[in-house]
Amino acid sequence: MTAAVRTPDPKKLIKGATGDWEVVIGLEVHAQVTSQSKLFSGASAEYGGAPNAHVSLVDAAMPGMLPVINEECVAQAVRTGLGLKAAINPYSVFDRKNYFYPDLPQGYQISQYKQPIVGEGVVVVDLADGTSIEVGVERLHLEQDAGKSIHDQHPTMSFVDLNRSGVALMEIVSKPDLRSSEEAKAYLSKLRTILRYLGTCDGNMEEGSLRADINVSVRKPGAPLGTRCEIKNVNSMRFAGQAIEYEARRQIAILEDGGSIDQETRLYDPGKGETRSMRSKEEAHDYRYFPDPDLLPLELDPAWIESLKAHLPELPDEKKARFVADYGVTTYDAMVLTLERASADFFEKVAAGRDGKAAANWVINELFGRLNKEGLGIEETPVSAEQLGAIVDLIQDGTISGKIAKDLFEIVWTEGGDPKALVEQRGLKQVTDTGAIEKAVDEVIAANPDKVEQAKAKPTLAGWFVGQVMKATGGKANPQSVNDLVKRKLGIE
Ligand code: ADP
Ligand code: MG
Repeated sequence: MTAAVRTPDPKKLIKGATGDWEVVIGLEVHAQVTSQSKLFSGASAEYGGAPNAHVSLVDAAMPGMLPVINEECVAQAVRTGLGLKAAINPYSVFDRKNYFYPDLPQGYQISQYKQPIVGEGVVVVDLADGTSIEVGVERLHLEQDAGKSIHDQHPTMSFVDLNRSGVALMEIVSKPDLRSSEEAKAYLSKLRTILRYLGTCDGNMEEGSLRADINVSVRKPGAPLGTRCEIKNVNSMRFAGQAIEYEARRQIAILEDGGSIDQETRLYDPGKGETRSMRSKEEAHDYRYFPDPDLLPLELDPAWIESLKAHLPELPDEKKARFVADYGVTTYDAMVLTLERASADFFEKVAAGRDGKAAANWVINELFGRLNKEGLGIEETPVSAEQLGAIVDLIQDGTISGKIAKDLFEIVWTEGGDPKALVEQRGLKQVTDTGAIEKAVDEVIAANPDKVEQAKAKPTLAGWFVGQVMKATGGKANPQSVNDLVKRKLGIE
C-alpha cells in the first residue's frame, strides 16, 4: 500500500531568502519488542537490573554458543505488521551486520536486510487541525539491540553492560512521506499508540523502548527529493520536533548560500538546540551483510499468521470510528479518548447506559485534565469509572448542577467515597424548590434597584442577577429555574 502523493501545503512550507522550501522527513523507528526473553536467548529482556544480570552465554557471544529464535518475538513482529496494515512476508532471512564496538561482543548484529519479516504498510496520522494523512511504511524488520558502554564510572576505564545485548527490536522504516516537524511528531505518537494497543512495545521513550533516526531533506516545492541527513537516536517527541526544525533551517541556509548538502549522520544536542555531524557518507560503514549461517530462514505458516490476526485487539482507528458511531462523540473527542487503550476502556465504562457526549465531556475535560495536571496516568486515577459515572448520573437526573458536580468531583478525587452518598451527607443537592429560589431572587432584586432599571433597558444584564442568585444559594440552585424566575420578575421575557 502506498500513500497518496500530496501537493505541498503552503502552511507547512518554510520561508527562505529565495522563496519557500518544503521539508521532507522519513523515520526509522526502533521499537523494543515486549517479550519475557531476548530474541535469540533465554535471558530476561526486562529493563534495568544490576549491570550484566540479564546475560546468557549467547548474549556474551561465548565461543560455540548458538542463537535460538524466540517464537514470541516473531509473533510480536507479525502482530505489529498486521496492525500497520502491512504485508507479512512468509519467508524472511536473518543477516549478520558486521561492525566492531566494545558493547557488541559478537562483532556483528543479527538483523534482517534484504528480506525483512514485514513489507509495506500504512499509518493514518491524525493532525492537530483535524485532518489526517497516510504515511507509508516501507518495511519492518527484527534485529538485536546492542549492550551499553559506560564511561562515567571510572577515571581511566570504561565498563560494558550487556543487559540490553540481544534484546529484540523492531525497526520500522517509514517512506519519506512527512512534511513538517508536527507531522513527524504526530506520526511517532500514532505509531506509539498502535504499538501500545497491540502490546508489542511499551513505547516508553525515556527508557529507550522507542527511539527514532530522523531523515531530513529540503527541496523547492515540486522539485525532486533533496539530499538527506540522518539524525540518530532521538528519544523524545519534543527533541524530534526541535531537531527537525533546526536541521531543515540549517540545510536551507547552506543551499541558499550556494552550497550543497553532504549526506551524513548527525546528532541532536538538546542543550544547544542544534544538530552536529557524527560521520559523513564517506565514513559510512561497510557492514558486509550476509545471511547468518547459524539461523535458518524464517518460514511462517499462513494459518499461524491468520490466528494471530484473529486475536488482534481493536485498533485505535477502528475504535475511534466506533466511538463516533456508538456514542455520538466528535471525531476529535474520539481521537483523544482512544489515544490509550486503558483510557478508551475507562470511557466506555462511564458511557455505558449514559449519554455518550456527557460522559466524554467529563472524562476528557475533568478527569484527563486533572490527571495531566498531576502528571498521572489513567491507571493511577483516584476517581474510578463507577464514581465518575455516578457523578454524571447525578447531573443528568437533576440532583446536582454542573457547577456542584465539579466540586463533587474534587471531593471524590481527594477523599474518595460514593458520590450519591456524598451529595446527601454534604447537602449538595440542587435546590429545585421554587419557593427557596424565588426568595433568593426577590432578595437580590430588592437590594439592587439601580441594576433592575438597567436590566429593563438591556436584557442581557439578567445574567448578572442569575449569577448573584447562584452565589447566594451556594451554587445549588437549578440555573434554568433561576434564569426563568429572574426574567419573569424583571419583566424581560
Ligand atoms: P538507507 O537504506 O540508506 O538507510 P533508505 O532508503 O532505507 O536508506 O531510507 C532510510 C530512511 O530515510 C527512510 O525512512 C526514508 O523514508 C528516508 N529517506 C529517504 N530519502 C529521503 C530524503 N530524500 N529525505 C528525507 N528522508 C528520506
Ligand atoms: Mg536504513
